[in-house]
Amino acid sequence: MARVLDVAEYTRGVLAGDRAVLARAITLVESQRSDHRELAQRLLVDLLPRAGGAVRVGITGVPGVGKSTFIDQLGTQLTTAGHRVAVLAVDPSSTRTGGSILGDKTRMARLAVDPAAFVRPSPTSGTLGGVARATRETIVLMEAAGYDVVLVETVGVGQSEVTVAEMVDSFLFLTLARTGDQLQGIKKGVLELADVIAVNKADGDHEREARAAARELSGALRMLYGPDAAWTPPVLTCSGLTGAGLDTVWQQLERHRRQQVETGELERRRGRQQVEWTWAMVRDQLLDRLAADPAVREIVDDVEREVREGRSTPTLAAGRILRAFGAEPPRGG
Ligand code: GDP
Repeated sequence: MARVLDVAEYTRGVLAGDRAVLARAITLVESQRSDHRELAQRLLVDLLPRAGGAVRVGITGVPGVGKSTFIDQLGTQLTTAGHRVAVLAVDPSSTRTGGSILGDKTRMARLAVDPAAFVRPSPTSGTLGGVARATRETIVLMEAAGYDVVLVETVGVGQSEVTVAEMVDSFLFLTLARTGDQLQGIKKGVLELADVIAVNKADGDHEREARAAARELSGALRMLYGPDAAWTPPVLTCSGLTGAGLDTVWQQLERHRRQQVETGELERRRGRQQVEWTWAMVRDQLLDRLAADPAVREIVDDVEREVREGRSTPTLAAGRILRAFGAEPPRGG
């Protein structure tokens, strides 16, 4: 194990774009240890004035839709154009299995060896809240290190998409050619988060099918959003494999961001995200402390049994837990 760095050494290394220091700084923000957390917070305060400059894009889609192929290709096009690209991942399943699939370097063969790119797998410890915190803080590190594009990948399941949407400027939804009834299969909640939609694998025999699906989805979205919407997500076709259409996808993401800059929405969005993040941390830390509280632990099995067996109401049970924790019970509790 290398010598422990102090805050000034971390700060200097990150600002200089030193990859080894950057990797260690990310490990530091991912750590749950309280002395690491304290050091990480001091580092982040130092770096905050140099952060915020990147284009932050979330990318989602079901497993197999082609996310890693797409990101490898798009990221390479961007570094060729002179950008520095960071790829992060939010994979809540990694916290259960201890193995992270998303953002795995082997899935992005070219970017993994590209000196202008930095690929980081999903943190593997903690809850979704913990993974989200580490990822948000890693965005600060990457921006301070001079990465001007941050891509945050997530799987198309459940809460993780909402979490990622809360840390990026624009959200890209990758899907496959579906028409008619199959369209119903796309979760409405995901469509509402999407700023740009791309029907992927539009190559070879699938190209026509993909274009038809994109037209249909585009029509459905115009109905969903209505004529007065400030932004209706454009639906494009692309192929991560051949690279076709990726420039258009990127142009639309840039257009979305430009519109937000011009209307002041980007500043408001980022402000809202910071406030929301603050409250998420309050919730997480309060719940962690409550769950670890000896007086709470002593009664919790008992309280849960009472509620399960219908001998107490959830309101009364919550009151008992909060009282044990030393907090006021809710009204009626
Ligand atoms: P992920 O699970 O969303 O990251 O998907 P992958 O990028 O690992 O791709 C899943 C499979 O689809 C792999 O076998 C890829 O080779 C294939 N694939 C990915 N992108 C494309 C594409 O644009 N066109 C075609 N035809 N196949 C693709």
